[in-house]
Parts: sequence; structure tokens; C-alpha cells
Amino acid sequence: MEDRSPSSETITFLGTGGARFMMINQFLASGGLWLNLSGTEILIDPGPGCIVQSTKRNLKADQLSAIILSHRHLDHSGDTNIMVEAMTQSGMKRHGYLFAPADALGTEPVIFSYLKKYLDGIKVLKEGKSYSIGNISFTTPVRHIHLVETYGMVFSTGKHTFSYIADTRYFDGLRQHYGGELLIINLVFLEPRPAADYPSSMPIDHLSVPDVERLIRALKPKAAILTHFGMSVWRANPQQIALKLTEKTGVKVIAARDGMRFDLAELDMDS
Ligand SMILES: [Zn+2]
Repeated sequence: MEDRSPSSETITFLGTGGARFMMINQFLASGGLWLNLSGTEILIDPGPGCIVQSTKRNLKADQLSAIILSHRHLDHSGDTNIMVEAMTQSGMKRHGYLFAPADALGTEPVIFSYLKKYLDGIKVLKEGKSYSIGNISFTTPVRHIHLVETYGMVFSTGKHTFSYIADTRYFDGLRQHYGGELLIINLVFLEPRPAADYPSSMPIDHLSVPDVERLIRALKPKAAILTHFGMSVWRANPQQIALKLTEKTGVKVIAARDGMRFDLAELDMDS
């Protein structure tokens, strides 16, 4: 059983693997992020295996208030249906919201129609908008450069602020929009992949290690957590990458591990 106080604020990493080869091989899990913010529980990007990773860690889906999808790609949305089923106890406990960009809900929606009826509602994420879930608020400040409609989020809990930079190619707007004490960044590539070198159908719109360094230097969070590692990052050892980034930027950079739980109170202890 959990021994957390009701006022604690934690982020549990139900997976740290990203992009297609990590997902299909499950070298790292791909279950997304589970927030528990003073009792308000929110699931972000439930990729394949979320139901396995969450139940095995005794996280209770029927305690969730919302599920948020940054975008429709399979590694972020694969377990959406089963997690809505679990959140609502197969419709017995009708509640909760699904937040997703419009193109995740249009043609080939990520959610089955019978499950929509189990929810309190579906909210469409749009650029520059604010949303609230209980006493938690978040914004989706800028549309990312990615193959499908994608947003990151800036959360405010009253006690802490943190940003989640979901999949995107690097662009300067990221530095203007993602503040907060903690930065969670999806790091897929070791090296940048110039668009000119690849066919347009290749999924290369992702952040690389130099991009992440640039973001951390500009945004100066108290801490940064790297996750959603692609093959090249995984092979290079995310822990070593985080160590080097810590030395180079002076910001505490952590490479997430599957199942890691980060307590936002740690942000209050440093400096
Ligand atoms: Zn993606």
C-alpha cells in the first residue's frame, strides 16, 4: 500500500521508452505518466502496456479524474481504450474526462464510441488554451512540430509548476512557452536529424540531446527529467547522458527509469 500523505504530489513513470522500435520490442515500457497531485490523479499518454504497468504498481484507474493525450501516435495512445474502461469500471462508475487534440478524435478516433458514454466528457486540446481538472490547471501553450497535432502541457498545482514537452521537432517557441520548476522532456534521438537528409514520411520530428541541452539552458528549471527514449538514446545509456547534461548545464538532470516516482517536494529541497 502507498504511504503517501494526501497532500503529496508525485509523478510516476509507467514507461520510459519512446518511438516505434522501443515500443514494439518493449526494451523499456511505454505506459506514460501517472500524476497524483494532492489526490487528483491524471494519466498522460497511456501507451501500450499502461494497464499492465499501472495495475502492477497498485495504481487505481478508478481514482483517475482524467486521461490526457498529447497526440494520437500509438506509443502515446495505444492503451487509451482499456484505461477509459478501467477508469470508469466498464461504465459502472461513469466519470472522468479525456483530453486530446482534435485529430485524435476525428477520423479513426483513438477511443471507441461505446466508451465515450462512460465519460463525463471529452475535451479538445487547442493551442493557447487553459483547462482545469479539480484544483489542477494546465495549459497547452503551443502546437508542436510533429507529424500529427501535438501539444505539451504546463501544469500548475498551487504548490508547484511543471512542464511536459511531448514529441516535437526543436523550434524556438519551445523556449518561450515551457517554464516551471520542473521540465519533463521526451528525448528520442541522440543526434539531431536534419530534415533534408530524410524522406518526408520518416518520423524524425523529435528532440535530440543537443536540443534538450539548449532547452534546459534557456528555461533553467530546478530539475529536468528525461524520458521517452528512442533506440539511439537507450544504447548510449540515458543515465550517462543525464549526468553529462547536469555537468554542462548546472541543472539537475535525471534520466527516468521505468516505475520511477518523482516527488515534487524534492524541488523544494535543492538550493
Ligand atoms: Zn509521436
